[in-house]
Amino acid sequence: MIVMSNMFRGNPLHTDLQKSLNTKNSLRIDRSDVTIGDKRLSSSLDNVIRDKVIRSAKGLLETNLDDLFSDEEPKNLGVSEPTLRDGSKCGSLTSDASCDTDSDCIDDASREQRKCMGARRFGHILRRVLSRNVFPNVPAAPGMPCAGEDRSIYRRGARRWRKLYRVNGHIFQAKRFNRRAFCAFCQDRIWGLGRQGFKCIQCKLLVHKKCHKLVQRPCSSEHVDPIEVKDDANGEGTLGRAASVRSRAEELPLPETPPAPAPPSHDLEPGSQRQYSLEDFELIRVIGRGSYAKVLMVELKRTRRVYAMKVIKKALVTDDEDIDWVQTEKHVFETASNHPFLVGLHSCFQTPSRLFFVIEFVRGGDLMFHMQRQRRLPEEHARFYAAEISLALHFLHERGVIYRDLKLDNVLLDHEGHIKLTDYGMCKEGVRPGDTTSTFCGTPNYIAPEILRGEEYGFSVDWWALGVLTYEMLAGRSPFDLAHAADSPDQNTEDYLFQVILEKTIRIPRSLSVKAASVLKGFLNKNPAERLGCCDNGFLDIVNHPFFKSIEWEMLEQKQVVPPFKPRLEGERDLANFPPEFTEEPVHLTPDLDTVIADIDQSEFEGFEYVNPLLMSLEDCV
Ligand code: ADP
Ligand code: MG
Repeated sequence: MIVMSNMFRGNPLHTDLQKSLNTKNSLRIDRSDVTIGDKRLSSSLDNVIRDKVIRSAKGLLETNLDDLFSDEEPKNLGVSEPTLRDGSKCGSLTSDASCDTDSDCIDDASREQRKCMGARRFGHILRRVLSRNVFPNVPAAPGMPCAGEDRSIYRRGARRWRKLYRVNGHIFQAKRFNRRAFCAFCQDRIWGLGRQGFKCIQCKLLVHKKCHKLVQRPCSSEHVDPIEVKDDANGEGTLGRAASVRSRAEELPLPETPPAPAPPSHDLEPGSQRQYSLEDFELIRVIGRGSYAKVLMVELKRTRRVYAMKVIKKALVTDDEDIDWVQTEKHVFETASNHPFLVGLHSCFQTPSRLFFVIEFVRGGDLMFHMQRQRRLPEEHARFYAAEISLALHFLHERGVIYRDLKLDNVLLDHEGHIKLTDYGMCKEGVRPGDTTSTFCGTPNYIAPEILRGEEYGFSVDWWALGVLTYEMLAGRSPFDLAHAADSPDQNTEDYLFQVILEKTIRIPRSLSVKAASVLKGFLNKNPAERLGCCDNGFLDIVNHPFFKSIEWEMLEQKQVVPPFKPRLEGERDLANFPPEFTEEPVHLTPDLDTVIADIDQSEFEGFEYVNPLLMSLEDCV
């Protein structure tokens, strides 16, 4: 049984919310509206978000208490007390005012469950609730938050907001064109890779990106036929574009003709020995879900090696911008295969309905799982994780990648307790030093102020997110904790969260050391030009920060520093560190529906197949 957040208790919308949390929630926000700090953000977000999106953003907690009601005697009542190398306990509750009162908090659904259970079992449940400290007491009414409910350490979805550009009443969106298209302003052909042109979402006018600001014809808001010409077989664009696609491996081939459904290709890549398919793997368990994907633990039948398999439904990858992030994720996975603190890629393949990334299985679970149990970490632990994450981010930055989605859910622990970043779906590639970008994306609680202000931004946003995450590790709550705003509908919105991020002075708990407070203030500087890691010395400023004084960076990078916490694991396939809400899900993939597949443009996914040559040669040695 799934017990949703208090936020949703007694709320018939919760099924929808649960769905929307598991799917892609794109928002359209005019960039000019986003440049706030004043009221414009509120109004634009109110308009855009009201119907569905903000509710999922407010889906602060999707905690599954399946295991509370399982028939089994709980093995690990003390999940909040992980074993440490030094034998101490970490994450114990302190008397700090920010800690919640420990008492039972049970929603309607769980009350029903309770009736069915004996007193002895209820005792287990109660103890486990107490030890988790998730629902601290009884809410005043269904849908109301528990007094002091800790909303700070919940899984929240990453999202990307679609950019729209307004000119003369037109609302332009970047587009790729499958047919020949001509610019309504300069009459020249719109072509080239990527999102070459802009299309007004109201009147469908097509223009070059470079011409869109010059368009004088006002938008009629009515559909006008765009100037589109069917391709001829010998069109110059076909050759030019095809050549360009080959030379720019990071771009998907653009079909010149209207796309015809194409079966997924299982051809061998030049030089590779084989391609993988779903039949090569045994699906063992579901281990996670994010905003876009479901992740399974799988076994490669031939070698019996265990991998994680990230599965994305093609139906979610619906338009031009989306296919770009799938490609980016693949490229960054490839790049990541060369770093100890990044999850690497084994292979990619597809079925008519899904895309599959086979990636390293990281056994220790994610930091969200551990933080929900440990509540807060000793400084020594937080320092270790923050330092390893810094190295991973620096590696990506040096290769021109902004990560853009650092959060507890995306930081995994391996069996020894070293971190590994995963989930590259929000990354921005090809960023050279000094370059900037402007896409409004990320996970609300971690979005940097410069993104919210609608400014161009660079690598700085990752150092901000590291500040938020380090704060969460040290304080056990978000620096933008809205727990006290829970009763006020006005303050319980995403735009209020954004205003808090932009305007609120961040208070550092007094219990933290001076060095910890200093590193948090450094990362959480609202001015990216002054932020730790973003000034002239860049990454060196982080390395030399007093908080990291005890870190031996070279040893750390070589995984020579013993992690402060080793996840409990009994064997290679132990799933004790993955939430039962996932591991108890049925593992099968639902059969493909013809109606769904008919709507998928398979040509968008051509060339997705991939096999990592390094891992393959390793396997061949098995
Ligand atoms: P999304 O892109 O939808 O956010 P993620 O890649 O973040 O999906 O995966 C969702 C969750 O699955 C993660 O939060 C993590 O708990 C788990 N997970 C992802 N990759 C792995 C992996 N390689 N090994 C173990 N668990 C993983
Ligand atoms: Mg994720």
